Amino acid sequence: QCIMACPVGALTEHENIRDVWDAIADPDQYVVVQTAPAVRVALGEEFGLPVGTRTTGKMAAALRRLGFNKVFDTVFGADLTIMEEGTELLSRLSSGQNLPLMTSCCPGWVKFMEHNFPDMLDNLSTCKSPHEMEGAMVKSYFAGKLGIDPQKITVVSIMPCTAKKFEGAREELSNKDMQDVDWVLTTRELAAMIKEAGIDFVNLKDEEFDNPLGVGSGAGTIFGATGGVSEAALRTVFELVSGQPLDTIEYTAVRGMDGIKENTVELPDGRTIRTAVVHGLGNARRLMEAMQRGEKSYDFMEVMACAGGCITGGGQPILNAADSSRLDVKALRAKAIYSEDEAQTVRKSHHNPFIKQLYAEFLGEPNSHLAHELLHTHYTARTKY
Ligand code: SF4
Repeated sequence: QCIMACPVGALTEHENIRDVWDAIADPDQYVVVQTAPAVRVALGEEFGLPVGTRTTGKMAAALRRLGFNKVFDTVFGADLTIMEEGTELLSRLSSGQNLPLMTSCCPGWVKFMEHNFPDMLDNLSTCKSPHEMEGAMVKSYFAGKLGIDPQKITVVSIMPCTAKKFEGAREELSNKDMQDVDWVLTTRELAAMIKEAGIDFVNLKDEEFDNPLGVGSGAGTIFGATGGVSEAALRTVFELVSGQPLDTIEYTAVRGMDGIKENTVELPDGRTIRTAVVHGLGNARRLMEAMQRGEKSYDFMEVMACAGGCITGGGQPILNAADSSRLDVKALRAKAIYSEDEAQTVRKSHHNPFIKQLYAEFLGEPNSHLAHELLHTHYTARTKY
């Protein structure tokens, strides 16, 4: 994989379709695919379905027909991220160190920090992003379950994002000389593969993801829209602290398209978490500079490089000019993401039964030694530009 210079990769998207076809055709490779939450609410646009159509079941069916050995869901990885990052947040709140905790699931934002605010890299969460966590679990936990040599597993991520191609190739996101994720395809590239294979996408019957790394909660699903990571984290952190079920699980204060959303949440033990949800790197820079001047302070910051979050990532379908001026694409895709959450019976990451199983059988507990080895990473100061 080549490494791109653009911080969000949008300028140099290149196609890895042939690499993925080659992996699928290789009899010595076991090829696992996973898909980010934002892909399922946009892929249908490539096949003439209305903006905001949820195509989760058709997408799983299409991926199986393309020849992948297992069809997993990055939403499981998002749930795992919440377990690790929520625990990290509680620990930093207790120690008072490296606050605010800043999310690290957006590679555009992480690289922006490495270039522009290298003295604040300790504030970034050490958690790998959801698809990297998922890839790491495929090549350790799942490989062990199946008795397959992880060197013979290829992990393919379908992402709304061109910057994820750069992230997938970072050497910090590997274990034992194996990348956690081998190839990243964008939503557009997946659509091209489905068309190339002659699959009648619109008329496919819905299918489910495979177990155990294909079952995610509603909380993991909303990662695709701005505010989603914060809402998912709050659903879990609140219950971890109180031990009681939440009355209302929808934190509407962190939703919506305002560029910077500030909110304070009181935990059941009396502590408060001051949150900021930011999307767009211009907004992020303004907030970082305000913090450096001492005008702002928070405990938790969620930052996404793309306006609206991953639903409008650089790898998503591009609408024609008439449709994009007529329709509020961001709002329609976000609505689809939230309705996907509402349709789930499990809507909190820590209630995902397969997440519980993963900790019981393999990782021990969140932030354990093994979890740190496989699910956490570090960052690199880079030249300022
Ligand atoms: Fe990629 Fe944009 Fe999502 Fe960041 S916000 S992970 S750059 S799609």
